[in-house]
Amino acid sequence: MQHKGAEAWVPATRSLTKLAEAAEECRGCELWEDATQVVFSRGRAAARLVLVGEQPGDQEDRTGEPFVGPAGNVLADALEAAAIDPATTYLTNAVKHFRHTVRGKRRIHEKPAVGHITACHPWLEAELSVVRPHVVVCLGATAGRSVLGRTVRIGAERGKLIEPAGPDEPQVVVTTHPSALLRLRDRSEWGEAFDELVSDLKVAAAAAD
Ligand code: SF4
Repeated sequence: MQHKGAEAWVPATRSLTKLAEAAEECRGCELWEDATQVVFSRGRAAARLVLVGEQPGDQEDRTGEPFVGPAGNVLADALEAAAIDPATTYLTNAVKHFRHTVRGKRRIHEKPAVGHITACHPWLEAELSVVRPHVVVCLGATAGRSVLGRTVRIGAERGKLIEPAGPDEPQVVVTTHPSALLRLRDRSEWGEAFDELVSDLKVAAAAAD
């Protein structure tokens, strides 16, 4: 499906609050139709470290806050283990509305398509131009596609500092999305995956200092 894209809704402003307010009106793709509300971001304009996730989940869609569901809890634990104060970060998503399908009473997460990522990218671009972080952490392949503009292979690229695309651009670190850990059933696998996530976050934090 061809999407209009968010450009027409993104105001020329240096205010994150104004960006978040404007995003409530966005009709750049069809995802707003079935979502409760837009879920924009949380954090400081002065943050050196920006973390980009995929899209809001069920709880984020209901509350309007990013990373408040189970994956958000994993991320909070990983940030703590990496000695990163969440208050010094800026958290956002590549796609600002919850893509899902309804099965009975359940709303099942559906991965955003490339067209949704592209349509929503102007919001992320505007946020990054306000925050101007030293480092952007891509939590998963959807964030990687939005930030780097190409397909990202998490296994091959994770935990490495990707050099800035230009003189005023941030360095980028790719890692797994915390929700991937929630799909692991084996406790030992979970521990290893958590340690890898923490290790990638430490790389980003060291570069951001
Ligand atoms: S997902 Fe992004 S582009 Fe689509 S309507 Fe929501 S804010 Fe706009």
